[in-house]
Amino acid sequence: MSELQSKDKEYIAGTYARFPVEIAYGKGSEVFGTDGRRYIDLGSGIGVTSFGIADDSWINAVTSQLSKVQHMSNLYYTEPCVRLAELLCEKTEMKKVFFSNSGAEANECAIKAARKYASEKKGKDYFTIVTLYNSFHGRTLTTLAATGQEHYHELFQPLTPGFVHTPANDLESLKNTVRENRTAAIMLECIQGEGGVIPLDAEFVKGAAELAQSEDILLIIDEVQTGNGRTGALYAYMNYGINPDIVTTAKGLGGGLPLGATLLGEKVQNVFGPGDHGSTFGGNPIACAGAVNIISRIDDSLLADVKKKSDFLFSSFEGADGIESVSGMGLMIGIKPNKPAADIVRKCIDKGVLCLTAKNKVRLLPALNIKPELIAEAAEIIKSVCSEK
Ligand SMILES: *Cc1c(COP(=O)(O)O)cnc(C)c1O
Repeated sequence: MSELQSKDKEYIAGTYARFPVEIAYGKGSEVFGTDGRRYIDLGSGIGVTSFGIADDSWINAVTSQLSKVQHMSNLYYTEPCVRLAELLCEKTEMKKVFFSNSGAEANECAIKAARKYASEKKGKDYFTIVTLYNSFHGRTLTTLAATGQEHYHELFQPLTPGFVHTPANDLESLKNTVRENRTAAIMLECIQGEGGVIPLDAEFVKGAAELAQSEDILLIIDEVQTGNGRTGALYAYMNYGINPDIVTTAKGLGGGLPLGATLLGEKVQNVFGPGDHGSTFGGNPIACAGAVNIISRIDDSLLADVKKKSDFLFSSFEGADGIESVSGMGLMIGIKPNKPAADIVRKCIDKGVLCLTAKNKVRLLPALNIKPELIAEAAEIIKSVCSEK
């Protein structure tokens, strides 16, 4: 074990099972180890570096803000967060934005907004949030409660009360669950990411939106992973033709700096007043200046390019030797190998390709602007590893 790895083991809390790769630097979708080895990066720091590593245009946006002011808190006005909020509202149908620093925090804000709205509108006991089994909404005690996977819950009881789970793609069960509880909101990911890159059925998502409408409850869409161009639309809900009341996002929004956003639609735009919620770091000028750069560049031609690269990857993997199925949307792709996904990922690292896992899938979240020749090179390597006997 190298000195870096043994010191990491000595001083860093043991929450991560890291791969034995020490990254020194990178450019675009290529990164280089401290040993000089080159890797093609198909993970983007879990869908964070939307335009790759050390992207020049993003660096320029971030550093020019860095030399003006790095932080002032939310006691005063600064320009980047206002520009970003305006941009996000213009590109969606949402009306107002609350900024935070992570996906879990964006979801916490959405849950607080839904609970306040429902308690004022229907009464204090209308606090239940209905989410799906196999979902993932974060690691705080409240977003863990929202996460519909028992194995994350076990060691951390008691979690925040008021969350119930129902199976994905079962509209009857969703209806019953919503009606059996005093429900404030339904919350879902259009594509379950950590759950295995599983897109929800279009009829189910539409049905959930109609149900929310007819029951006069809120629909929260968690776009922490699916957002910001990842699926070939600016936000994945746009692929489903629905109008959510609240949209949360983070990961790819900041292009590599910590940033979360909770977008509030028409109904809930004025739910928060001064003091109802807040964040010291939320809306940080540097993170927001980077995000303005990222969101401005996600235009129709970039999204068309994402779809083209997606088609290429789907057609390379579908029916290939050792691959049982391919799922996902845009550049959020799950490959089900006929061997354990973690073994495939380890072998890919040996051959110079970095991929992720999600349950029993090899998960790919490459940078949106990854070069076609790098995708082709990486796809060949993944296929050859999957086809090994
Ligand atoms: C990653 C993720 C989160 C949590 O985001 P953090 O930034 O790690 O707090 C929440 N929801 C979804 C769908 C995610 O993929």
